[in-house]
Amino acid sequence: MAFSEPILHVDMDAFFVEVERLRDPSLRGRPVVVGGTGPRAVVAAASYEVRPFGVRSAMPMSAARRACPGLIVVPPDRSAYSEASERLFELFREFTPLVEGLSVDEAFLDVRGLRHHFGDPGEIGTAIRQRIRDELSLPASVGVAASKFVAKLASERAKPDGLLWVRVGDQQAFLDELDVSELWGVGVATKAALERLGVETVADLGSVPPGLLERAVGESHAAHLRDLAAGHDPRPVEPDQRARSISVEHTFDRDLSSTDEIRSALAGHADEVTRRLRRAGLRARTVTLKVRDSEFHTVTRSETLAGSVDVSTAVFKTVMRLLERVELGAGRKIRLLGIGLSGLEARDRPEQMVAGTDRRWESVDRALDEVRDRFGGSAVGRAGARPDAG
Ligand SMILES: [Mg+2]
Repeated sequence: MAFSEPILHVDMDAFFVEVERLRDPSLRGRPVVVGGTGPRAVVAAASYEVRPFGVRSAMPMSAARRACPGLIVVPPDRSAYSEASERLFELFREFTPLVEGLSVDEAFLDVRGLRHHFGDPGEIGTAIRQRIRDELSLPASVGVAASKFVAKLASERAKPDGLLWVRVGDQQAFLDELDVSELWGVGVATKAALERLGVETVADLGSVPPGLLERAVGESHAAHLRDLAAGHDPRPVEPDQRARSISVEHTFDRDLSSTDEIRSALAGHADEVTRRLRRAGLRARTVTLKVRDSEFHTVTRSETLAGSVDVSTAVFKTVMRLLERVELGAGRKIRLLGIGLSGLEARDRPEQMVAGTDRRWESVDRALDEVRDRFGGSAVGRAGARPDAG
């Protein structure tokens, strides 16, 4: 049985503040923000203790100090947050390579491939929260839903330190209660236009007569809003570049020279890498062979197949073909062999999810890119665009 709600949105609670509290436990339970102290400083992260005072991230620090007497301001330590973020994303990728980072402390995970290991996605979310708690000593919230959009809304409501699973059957009721401004793409101007139509909640949006919404916000935006209001969000989880491959490589104790030795090493690699691929519930389109010779000269050769594969023999045949394209220097032996698989997709992902790029979603993707830019999503893995067998 496939999961009806295969998307998780995992979001750390007051991430920078909680990292600081690990280093200085005296900050626990106290009104803490992380941020600068200069005249133009803003709040980078707000603890839950200061939120009742209306203190939020991105607020000017001077306003935060006025709103919350006794506010404790801790200067940011980006390297500590990056380090915690690295560990967090490593942990996500132990569950699945289908991890799409939104910022240093939040990501979408497509967990449909894990259905053989867990009874339901709620259990997966609980397991992830527990591992984060055990290994990073940090609180995280998880939203579970059928789509990215609903999963993100769900994690917001699960905060702090909770999990909310919005089942498909309850999704419309969940959405109907939301303020329209919670829909992606509803900025100040759209919000004002909707208010003029008497629209405050998502449910109100559904009752606007056809044509009226289109005239108020434009046709494509209206279609986009109607989709969101109905919970339609076909966008797949797009793994970060560096997570887009699974690879196995091995440096041999003794350099290899005979064809038989090389064949048997590659067969073993193909078995191992496809086992990992299948365990994650994935298939791969692109196979990369990495060869390093006894003079430390390294070459990689890749082939993208007509269809995706997950069996060892298909990968093995491909790497043997790729091996013919590798020319070793005279007298050189092989020191290292690696196989990388990329172009990963979930085994039971409907074809439309892979193929479709609906233009209406471009604005949402742009909005997400802005979030990434603002919060330094580059730290979450835009580096290493080349599928690397290493
Ligand atoms: Mg967060």
